[in-house]
Amino acid sequence: MSHFDGHLHSTASDGVLDAAAVVDLAHRAGVAALALTDHDTFAGHAAAAARAQALGLDFVPGVEMSCDLGGRELHILAYFVDRHAADLDSALAAARTERHAHLARALARLAELGFPVERDVVLKFAGDAAPGRPHLARALIAAGQVATMDEAFKRLLATGRPGHVPRRLPAVERMIALCQAAGGVTSVAHPGIYDLDAATLDTLQRFGLDGIEIYHPEHSTEQRLYYLRHAERLRLLPTGGSDFHAPGKLGPGGEGLDAAGLDRLRARSAARRPPAA
Ligand code: AMP
Ligand code: ZN
Ligand code: FE
Ligand code: FE
Repeated sequence: MSHFDGHLHSTASDGVLDAAAVVDLAHRAGVAALALTDHDTFAGHAAAAARAQALGLDFVPGVEMSCDLGGRELHILAYFVDRHAADLDSALAAARTERHAHLARALARLAELGFPVERDVVLKFAGDAAPGRPHLARALIAAGQVATMDEAFKRLLATGRPGHVPRRLPAVERMIALCQAAGGVTSVAHPGIYDLDAATLDTLQRFGLDGIEIYHPEHSTEQRLYYLRHAERLRLLPTGGSDFHAPGKLGPGGEGLDAAGLDRLRARSAARRPPAA
């Protein structure tokens, strides 16, 4: 069990448990600290922070942002961001608006392909969250078009598949800068999933990136060693977490950092904030 799970999703984005329930599960698993890192939103923070405080857990504000780097999609995690920072908040609001516009385009494409799905059904799965592909996948399953999430992505929704319609994403350098200005520490999420190479990591470091997510359930041992080596070379901090979305796979606390690893992230954020007057 890790001390700090730095990658968790709730119903504020595409997870299936609400933010307080995610904190409960993490607590039962034995973690001491956790970050809620919903996609493009801080909406779960208030509920998660309150539950964490009641349970004596250390709550780290986080977010996972979908970003563009030269036409490629990358996910950037940010920790210790001030969720009241206006520029970051409006960039995330724009990302959520684009999720709704994207859904309309994706539904049109799926209908053309012979997979009609009702917008309202997707929005019902999204609940209070801005829609994402997992909500679309659940609607496809409910409509009997596919059997599983995995099938929905592999046949239709994954990048490069016929039902994949690109979403307009903010430039990664802009989102890193906005997070820094909001006192946050950024890390590139699951680089192994994108097979990110050294040159791309160099670019991200020049943009001001602080960390690399090393400990992620989809990373092989070789990938962990590879990215750890580059983190050391570029003086980037290792981060990690379970990327929990739903019970069934790896639970909260199944991946993450030890207490010293969390302290290093906190110290980097503190160094970025003006000293309290
Ligand atoms: P979106 O936010 O619309 O770009 O969707 C991205 C989310 O889809 C990820 O955070 C995962 O939760 C989920 N996802 C991506 N690829 C897969 C896959 N192959 N199988 C199941 N879920 C996936
Ligand atoms: Zn997700
Ligand atoms: Fe991600
Ligand atoms: Fe994630």
